[in-house]
Amino acid sequence: MSDAHTEIFCCDALRAVAVELPDPAAPTIYVSDSGVTMVVVGLLQTEDGLGYLDQAIQHCPFCGTKLQDAEAIAEKVSH
Ligand SMILES: [Zn+2]
Repeated sequence: MSDAHTEIFCCDALRAVAVELPDPAAPTIYVSDSGVTMVVVGLLQTEDGLGYLDQAIQHCPFCGTKLQDAEAIAEKVSH
């Protein structure tokens, strides 16, 4: 995890629950390879292993600080 990634945490609560990568995937908050703060919202056990659905978050769920806006997320995840 680079310095740029750690700087996005606005409060200790968010930093405490965030992990570099969900392993194994679990309902949690993490920063994706593209630098977008994501929260895992659902898990699905498949024949190929554990799959998960994640969602970018725009505001900290603990203190309400705006972390990233939709345009910034779209830029980071554009392929
Ligand atoms: Zn916060």
